[in-house]
Amino acid sequence: MKISELARDKVKNLVPYASARLSMSGGSVWLNANENSLATQYQLSGDYNRYPDCQPPALIQAYASYAGVSPDQVLTSRGADEGIELLIKSFCEPGKDRISICPPTYGMYKISAFSQDVEVNTVPLTKELTLDLPALFAAPDTKLVFICSPNNPTGDLIPRQQIIEVLEFFAGKALVVLDEAYIEFAPEATVVNLLADYPHLVVLRTLSKAFALAGLRCGFTLAQPPVIAALKQMIAPYPVPAPVADIAVQALSKEGQQQMRSRVQTILRERDHFSRFAADLPYVSRVYSTAANYVLLSVPDAAAVVSAIADKGILIRNQSSQIGLGQVVRVSIGSPAEMQQLKAVMAELSF
Ligand SMILES: *Cc1c(COP(=O)(O)O)cnc(C)c1O
Repeated sequence: MKISELARDKVKNLVPYASARLSMSGGSVWLNANENSLATQYQLSGDYNRYPDCQPPALIQAYASYAGVSPDQVLTSRGADEGIELLIKSFCEPGKDRISICPPTYGMYKISAFSQDVEVNTVPLTKELTLDLPALFAAPDTKLVFICSPNNPTGDLIPRQQIIEVLEFFAGKALVVLDEAYIEFAPEATVVNLLADYPHLVVLRTLSKAFALAGLRCGFTLAQPPVIAALKQMIAPYPVPAPVADIAVQALSKEGQQQMRSRVQTILRERDHFSRFAADLPYVSRVYSTAANYVLLSVPDAAAVVSAIADKGILIRNQSSQIGLGQVVRVSIGSPAEMQQLKAVMAELSF
């Protein structure tokens, strides 16, 4: 018998998540994964012969202080992606409870649910890219509601009033998870200040985007202590490697936060410039307004645009398989030099 035949049926039939890194290779300018091109160098200092703390106190303290919450409201994990997985593992009974997602949105909620035999309620955003509240409230067996704001890949913020209505409706019934992976690009929109009022609110954060540490794999889940306690029941004993915690603590220092804010300013400047540039291109019919470090563009043929730009060594992402978007490409905002290169290439194209 072949080893591949020993795998579970669902594994054999699985179409794996096509991350940007898996699905595209080559190129010298990477603007396809919403990473941060503006890196900082870090030094490692420790010995690593001992197992780390499950939740390294210095890291938890540093993030709590950065986010303005108390340490018992913070869980750290291997990226926000592991936070998503832990939430489903800890709160959804396979075959019984469901998660609700609002596409077009981040792909990992669905993947994580699938791998844990949890069904998904798909409640598309409205034409105005807001939540369809009646549909969300009517969806069956909801245990977790995932809301991404700023939303990936559209870039827009979900109105705060809608988030509050969702929190009010699901009180005592389900957890409401706000994915704030990009919140540093629109810090005033955070809902962390609602944590005290809503024991069923969960906020996901990451160092992968504004903090420019996607390679580190370090994320955070913020919630009231009973939620954090449930997640800790399911987390691996040593989820965060000691060198990761060391670097994360440096990134969250006062100086690290200042560097992050200055990178954000650079990216926002480049983004607004790129949005105006793209709006003038004859083959771009819509530039989505964005609160994050990426811009979505409607084009006649997304695959052709992605491939023509890739021919010049620049990777951007086709997002046309998402519900309700049509032909669109997503451009992550890179360094000023990278954006200059991209604009030069895009100005020469015609479709
Ligand atoms: C990038 C991203 C994440 C994942 O962050 P990691 O910490 O790198 O796992 C989560 N949610 C959204 C919306 C993202 O775009």
